[in-house]
Amino acid sequence: MHNSILIKNGHIIDPSQGIDSIGDILIEDRKIKEVRLQPNKRQGEVKVKGQIINADGLYVFPGIVDMHAHLREPGFEYKETIKTGTMAALKGGITSVCCMPNTNPVNDNRTVTEFILKKAYAEGSCYVYPIGAITKGQKGEELAEMGLMYEAGCIAFSDDGRPVVSTLLMRRALEYSKALNVPIISHCEDISLSDSGTMNEGSLSTKMGLKGITYAAEDIMVARDIILSELTGGKLHIAHVSTEGSVRLIREAKKRGINVTAETCPHYFTITEDAVANYNTNAKVNPPLRTQRDIEAIKEGLKDGTIDVIATDHAPHHGDEKLQEFDKAPSGISGFETAFSLSLKLVHDGVLSISQLIEKMSYTPARILGINAGTLKVGSQADLTIVDMNKEFKVEATKFLSKGKNTPFEGWILKGTSVMTICRGKVFDCQSFIGG
Ligand SMILES: [Zn+2]
Repeated sequence: MHNSILIKNGHIIDPSQGIDSIGDILIEDRKIKEVRLQPNKRQGEVKVKGQIINADGLYVFPGIVDMHAHLREPGFEYKETIKTGTMAALKGGITSVCCMPNTNPVNDNRTVTEFILKKAYAEGSCYVYPIGAITKGQKGEELAEMGLMYEAGCIAFSDDGRPVVSTLLMRRALEYSKALNVPIISHCEDISLSDSGTMNEGSLSTKMGLKGITYAAEDIMVARDIILSELTGGKLHIAHVSTEGSVRLIREAKKRGINVTAETCPHYFTITEDAVANYNTNAKVNPPLRTQRDIEAIKEGLKDGTIDVIATDHAPHHGDEKLQEFDKAPSGISGFETAFSLSLKLVHDGVLSISQLIEKMSYTPARILGINAGTLKVGSQADLTIVDMNKEFKVEATKFLSKGKNTPFEGWILKGTSVMTICRGKVFDCQSFIGG
């Protein structure tokens, strides 16, 4: 027996098995060997020769599966690398990262997919699952070789950041997705309507003299893609939902049995367009931050199951890029290290139960993508995170392990954080990087 780890007396939450109980978890050779819950304690102590972690007063969850992130490699290593990105992910309790294809070159063929997987295996701290591009070069003109990329290890397809403008091409992509049984992750934006806007359209954008993006640019595309999903039976996943209208459309589609799932990101239920009021480029994202009304709708959607997943949309940028004028600065938040703590606020505020939250951040994304993660079932990969629900910490971007220090949450005090993440049989101490 080698490499065994015993986690003792943690509060174990595993939605895949309906577990919500104090207990011990024994890990052997990177796999969950045994889960022993408290009422069965009398069966005697679990004996172990390896490392013992005392999780008294702490929670133990399956590791977070982030189905929407940008690792920037190959091509943009000055923003992030697979090495720095996966370290930052572990610190945030994330053990599986799905990376979007807008690299350079674009991940639109198996050579790039294989490069990412090889690099992730050699230098990554957690699991990396590449998402292939829907169209060659993300240009929206010709379908990429989805079948070959799927064989090489892509678990979904997306032109994230760019909508597939051609309705016919999107139809074909969804037909392929049905044959391969993988999701098409859609960045929903009617670009003729958003018209190179840079923030939410409303009285604030007028006051600031910035071109706005109306909510309708998102809603229209969500509606189109739902219609195409119905037509083709393809597996549609709506990325980063930001509007009340999207939530309503997805809710109706689900009621009608259409094969659609959806995600949102912590910033869309935490901050409004007011965060950009001082031309703060660190709060510039695409889709843009919206209004309080949208936040309420998104919370309602999370609560009633309309929104299945919380993803980070971790999008690191170099400091110099965010220092540009608001119009010119790139969109995105460095999200790995704050996403889980921001999402925990939903639990502290009574919007979701802790089980529901873990389901949305771990079990459900794994299930949508068909990857072997998000569970503490005996025999599965021992990816898990140990969380102190009450530990408060201050967000300080300079302490991020990600190269991207772009966060609108600088200086915020957040409650609850991962203190330890276990992945690939290794224990990563998150605390030593928090300074607390
Ligand atoms: Zn993205």
